[in-house]
Amino acid sequence: MKRIFSGIKPTGHLTLGNYLGAVRRWVEVDQHQADALFSVVDLHALTVEHDPARVRRLSRQAATLLLAAGLDPERCTVFVQSHVDEHARLSYLMECVATDGEMRRMIQYKEKSLRARESGESVRLSLLTYPALMAADILAYGTDEVPVGEDQTQHVELARDLAVRFNHRYGHVFTVPKATHPVVAARVMDLQDPRSKMGKSHENGAGIVYLLDDADTVRRKIMRAVTDSGREVVYDREAAPGVANLLDVLAAATGGNPIGLAGVYESYGSLKKDTAEAVVELLRPVRERHAELAADPAQVDEVLRAGAERARGMARPLVDRAYRAIGLLPAV
Ligand code: ATP
Ligand code: MG
Repeated sequence: MKRIFSGIKPTGHLTLGNYLGAVRRWVEVDQHQADALFSVVDLHALTVEHDPARVRRLSRQAATLLLAAGLDPERCTVFVQSHVDEHARLSYLMECVATDGEMRRMIQYKEKSLRARESGESVRLSLLTYPALMAADILAYGTDEVPVGEDQTQHVELARDLAVRFNHRYGHVFTVPKATHPVVAARVMDLQDPRSKMGKSHENGAGIVYLLDDADTVRRKIMRAVTDSGREVVYDREAAPGVANLLDVLAAATGGNPIGLAGVYESYGSLKKDTAEAVVELLRPVRERHAELAADPAQVDEVLRAGAERARGMARPLVDRAYRAIGLLPAV
């Protein structure tokens, strides 16, 4: 059976981008067709300035939301990354296989380090090395496929390169993974700044729909979305990114096709209205189920405990093999 791994960082409240780009597919497709693992990758949340209590809170919230969205612990493994030591153990080996040049070429490093510098913060070394940890996350499970949004393509490519390089130099240990993306809405854009990706760690929440926003907030944010100077509703991601983004979101929410939908609308106003209602309906069950689950944290804890145990059982033998292959003396 195919193995799937993917993760989400507790750096902020989960967004519509996270849902359409990743989580919804985990729920609707991946957990049914593969041996799938989904992780709240909390170690990755420490690569930028962070508040310990907030990261802890967001980790629990992310795990609860994954279950609320429909991940079924009977079908897949849901766990918190830091509960499984193998990620950090393997990450070090990945750093020994990767080069500093490879890390510096990562677009997200360039963008996020610039953002940190601009706000007067120092850039943590882990922000540079984080793709090595991400490669470890993926490779520790013999992963075949990594379902992610488009922005993660480069990191998954790096994981592939490191797997191939390791296997070539030290013997075959790792499966070479590949990224998969949703057909529509693989890159949901910020509603206020449709040339940049909607991201949960961004400061200005006005352009971000959070999964836990109430219906009126979702409506308000979508009705105020920045559109383009033209009048006609056309699907053109370059020339009219705001409208294209709404069409993508509407298509993803209703199962339609963004180009086809463009022909249906006469005005931006009616497009926004329908998009807002579609998103409200899409998120309603997730929000309701989240409220139920949040009232029973012991249930979520138990899912995470069992998930970590299962993940450990899978990762440990593989990481042990990598340790031996690279030349480390086994402990007796
Ligand atoms: P951060 O701003 O901290 O990087 P994020 O919103 O980008 O947060 P991640 O935890 O980095 O979220 O990514 C989780 C998953 O969601 C990944 O698969 C990523 O590709 C996907 N994703 C994130 N943002 C979007 C988006 N705007 N559109 C589609 N997919 C997205
Ligand atoms: Mg991200």
